[in-house]
Formats: sequence, C-alpha cells, structure tokens
Amino acid sequence: MTVGVNRNDPRFDTLKRGHNARFPSSDADAADRILLCSSHDETAQALRKVVAAGLRPTVRSGGHCYEDFVSNNPHGAIIDLSLCNTVDRDGENGPYRVAPGAVLGDVYLELYKRYDLTLPAGSCYMVGAGGHISGGGYGFLSRLHGLTSDWITGVDILTVDSKGNVIERRVDKDHDPDLLRACRGAGNGNFGIITSFRFDKLPPAPREVAQANLIFDWATMMEDRFTQMLTTYGDYWEGRGKDPDTWGLFTLLDITPAKRGHFGLYIQYCQPDGTAKDLSVLEEFLNRFAAFQPMLLQAHGSLISRQGPSIAGRKIPKGQEGLNNAHEIAVRPALDVTIGGGGSGSPTRGKYKSSYMKRSFTPAEASTIYRFYNSDQITAQNSVLSVDSYGGAINRPELTHQTSIAQRSSIMKLQWQCYWPDASGDQIHLEQLDKFYTDLYTGSHVDAPEHNVRGGTQIHQLPLDLFIGDAVVADLRDKLPAKAITAKDLEKSVGKDIRKGDRLLLRTDHNNTYDGGSEKWMKDSPYLTIDATMWCIEKGIVIVGYDFYHGNDEPGSPRVFHNSRTLSEHGVITMPYLKNLDRIDKQRFTLIGLPLKLIDAEASPIRAVALL
Ligand SMILES: Cc1cc2nc3c(=O)[nH]c(=O)nc-3n(C[C@H](O)[C@H](O)[C@H](O)COP(=O)(O)OP(=O)(O)OC[C@H]3O[C@@H](n4cnc5c(N)ncnc54)[C@H](O)[C@@H]3O)c2cc1C
Repeated sequence: MTVGVNRNDPRFDTLKRGHNARFPSSDADAADRILLCSSHDETAQALRKVVAAGLRPTVRSGGHCYEDFVSNNPHGAIIDLSLCNTVDRDGENGPYRVAPGAVLGDVYLELYKRYDLTLPAGSCYMVGAGGHISGGGYGFLSRLHGLTSDWITGVDILTVDSKGNVIERRVDKDHDPDLLRACRGAGNGNFGIITSFRFDKLPPAPREVAQANLIFDWATMMEDRFTQMLTTYGDYWEGRGKDPDTWGLFTLLDITPAKRGHFGLYIQYCQPDGTAKDLSVLEEFLNRFAAFQPMLLQAHGSLISRQGPSIAGRKIPKGQEGLNNAHEIAVRPALDVTIGGGGSGSPTRGKYKSSYMKRSFTPAEASTIYRFYNSDQITAQNSVLSVDSYGGAINRPELTHQTSIAQRSSIMKLQWQCYWPDASGDQIHLEQLDKFYTDLYTGSHVDAPEHNVRGGTQIHQLPLDLFIGDAVVADLRDKLPAKAITAKDLEKSVGKDIRKGDRLLLRTDHNNTYDGGSEKWMKDSPYLTIDATMWCIEKGIVIVGYDFYHGNDEPGSPRVFHNSRTLSEHGVITMPYLKNLDRIDKQRFTLIGLPLKLIDAEASPIRAVALL
C-alpha cells in the first residue's frame, strides 16, 4: 500500500529531504507530500493521481542526489520508490531484475548470495539503484566491467504523454530502443519513473581483491614534487593504464587540505578471473610512487595481509635510507571490500561537481590544485578532490552509440566534494568551489566592461557578432620578459593592416609556458604602455586579445590595471589568456570566441578559434 506523508505527518521533516541537506532550500520550497510506493502498480497509480491533480512529480529512490533534482518541489509531490527494493530474476532463467529502491549494499549482497554475480557499481552502501544505475554509476570494478548502465538490457518505465496519460512501458532493444538508450546513462528522472532495471547477464562476482593505501606527507610535498606526483598518476592512466591487463586496477587519489598533514591514494586490484593471485600489475603501479616516499599504513582492515615484494625485496636507493617509501597489500574477500564502504553518514550540506579528463595533468593544473589545498580558504579546508581512475572497459567505443554516456575516452574522473554544517556557509563554499573549478579549467575568457568599470556593460548585454569577425595578430615576441609594448611597436607590427572594427591579438608566446599563474610568470609578462592603449582605442579596435598576463601596467600609470580599465571605459573588450597564437600563419583571419550567456556576469570563459 502506498504510504502518503504530508506536512502534518511527524515523518515529514525527515522524509522531505535527501542526503544533501541543502535541499529543500526552505520549508516553502519543499514538496507538499511524499508518496512511498512499494511496487510498480502502486507507483503507476500514485503517478496518475499526482498528474491528475496537476501537481509536479519528482522521483526519488535512494535520495543520494548531489543536486537539486528532487527535494525542491513547491506544492508538488515526491514519488519515493525506496520501498520498491527487490533484487531477483524474472522466472528461473529470465533477466535479473533490480528494483530502483534497492540500495547498492543490498544489491551486492543479493546478487552475490543468490546468483554469485555482481554489478560494477559504486562504493557507498546507501546509494539507491534508481539514480545510480540509470545515471551511469561506476565503482571499483568499472575499469574491468564497465558502468552499471552498460549492463542494462531493459527497463520498466512509466512515462506521461502530452494528454497527461500515464503509460506503462517495458523498454528493450526491440521496444522503444531510443528510450532504452536514454535510460542507459541519462535516466535520472528525465524520461519517466523506472520501476525495474533488467539485465540479461551480469559479471561474475570476484573472489578476492587486493587493496593498498599510499599516504603522502604534505610536509614533503613542495609544489614541484606535488606536480611530479600528480603527473606520475595521470601519466599512468594516459599510458600503461590503457593496457587491458591493467583494467582490474582501480584507484582513488583523495587530495585533502595541507593542514591535515597528509593525503592518500587508495588502490584496489582484481584480475579478470576474479582473483588477486598475481599482483605484478599492482606492484608495478605502486612502485611508480616510491620516489614520493609514501608513509606506511596498513591496508584498511586487512584479513589476509601479505607484504608486497617491494617492501620485502627492495633495495632502498642510496640517499633514501631511512625514508619510508613502503606500502602494504592486503588481499581480502571481494564481498567484504565491496560492501565495506558502509553508510554515507548523516545528511549534511554539500556541493559536488564532476569532471572527466582525457589526458594527464598539465603543470598549470597541478599548480592550481596545489595552491588551493595549501591556501587558507575555508572551502579548501572543507573539501576533497577525488581523482578516480576511469577508462578500461568503460571506454569500449561501441558503447557510445548503445548508451547515453558520451565520455568514453576519459582516463580519469574527478569528483569535487565540499561539506559544511549550516546555511550560513552556503555562499562562500559555493563561490570558492566554483572559483577553484574555473581556475583549473578555464584560461581563455572575455571580460565585459563591467569587469573593470562599475555599472559597465555585462556579458549578456554584448552582441554576439562582436565575438565573430576580422582579426589580426601583432607579433611581439621580442617583448619577453616584462618589456613595454608601445604604440610604435603596434604601428610597426600591424599599422598597415589594422582596420576599424578589427580584433587585435597580441602574440608573445608567453602563455605557452603558463605555469598556473605564478608570481614570476606574471612578472615576466610584457605590458601595454599608455600610448599603446590609446592607439588601440583610436584605431577603433573592438577586442584586444592577450597571450600573456594583462594586469601589468607601464610603471607610473595613474592607477592599477590602467590599460585594461581604460580599454573597458572605451567599450573595448579584453580577451585574456589566449593560447597557440603561434599557429596562426595569416595576418588577417576570422576570430570566433563566443562567451556563454551568463546573466549579470562581468566575464565568461570562451573557446577561441581562428578560421584561417
Ligand atoms: C555519499 C555518496 C556516495 C556516492 N558514491 C558514488 C559512487 O561510488 N559511484 C558513483 O557512480 N556515484 C556515486 N554517488 C552518486 C550517486 O550515484 C548519484 O547521486 C545517484 O544519482 C544517486 O541515486 P539515488 O537513487 O540514491 O538518488 P535519488 O536522489 O533518489 O535520485 C537521483 C536522481 O535520479 C532520479 N531517479 C531516482 N530514482 C529514479 C527512478 N526510479 N526512475 C527515474 N529516475 C530516478 C531522481 O529524480 C534524481 O534526479 C554517490 C553519492 C553520494 C551522496
């Protein structure tokens, strides 16, 4: 029987929210009722009633949504499938079925005990199948066996047509194949309510897995060393980690604040035959980190512990005697490891982001991460950046067409997580995490006049055709390091070619050695003199692009950021942090560098391209 919980019910305050305590944002934003359904039929009936009453339904299974897709639903209804949680088989030999309310820990236990099978799903016991499987959830076995959604062969789903009729569909390769593809990775509440996942087959449950932890001491991690460690990690996944014999290796590098003293790399390994007898792949991986002197930590809760050959047999290189670069490997029953992650703790306020990487880290990226976690920012203290291994079986190209997960050439997946206790911390944490993310991934951008001039034009007010059009490059390579770019220099370089309405790109190649924006790098950047700034304005240039730090000014300028502010005051747009200007081999070409339509924003990232 469906259980209805409305605002007067003592359970309402607990059930109105999921795991992220940020949502609902306020009492008024909460749904008016929660309908807890135990079966497909109950769910269909509940959905019919909600739609007939003109209410907005949102769907919940395990309640572990990162963002605001469920709980903020003013006057609406949450259809909750957490009581719809069986794991079984359709008949004796039919497909395996997982109901959406089953939590991952129970899915693992049931599949193992009943069928000796598993699912390559996530590590948190209490995450629900409904959101996780339909959204392309992944975990320790995913490099070996792909994503959860890769195994779906059918779903039972309730959709609503344009007339408000609830349609019950059994979707598979022969029935609504497009909808099946959509539910294999993009199913989270986007197309309907999934009441059952069906799998024709599932991977065999592994017998045992090997685990190891490497703990790095922040005190020994100067920026250079951190960069080397991070690139060693990324290089492995970009190179050796693509070889099929390594697909059983899964790692989680958790970068945490320097103030905590250390950060860790968790490693798990299982051979394709479900054993951990031959540990050479794991050893090879671990040994790459010996130079970074990991501290010895016994692998978490080991049952059968055996020393890695790299402790027993390794000769400590001269000069490193006394340094602790050991690790210990524990081989444990796979089921213990799989469900060992336990619960997810009490709901707390959190912000999450994800990003996929196709290549290893650049020094600039490593430097940005290093500086964030060595800063005093409150968000740095309350956050963790998990850099997970990805790829392997996930990256089988045919899956791009059969599923709706597009990131099939990524080698790492980053999970940005940040937690704080109460609403007063919302703004600062959201802003600082956003800024960290933007610092890592954006370089080229445009600044609208408001960036420098209070009340100036904002990004969304600028016409798009400004960002598509004729451009010329001024070759100023002789201005490194830190020399003045004068009106005479510009006249000499592009004076003959420049036309009113042009975009002018200043080329020094300084961005080709960008190191994350160190003080030295900024100091070495050339600067536009006052007469060069006025030259740009007088020539009617509409955008000035830089491949160097644009904040330096002629010594004795009347105010800070004189050149970019003066350009802004005259309506000239600045486009800093351009790269690869050395590849433009024509004096005149078309520049395209479109900003995002960010409302009330003073700047936007761009993807700048030159049509030659
Ligand atoms: C502590 C924690 C640990 C995590 N660990 C991992 C991990 O190891 N690996 C990983 O890949 N991810 C992980 N995640 C992310 C998690 O997989 C997703 O947030 C997932 O969507 C949660 O599913 P849910 O059913 O628990 O959440 P819900 O909040 O119930 O739902 C999430 C989304 O799916 C939709 N949805 C839920 N049920 C259905 C349904 N039956 N039909 C259609 N749409 C539905 C909801 O409307 C919502 O949009 C973790 C999240 C948390 C909070």
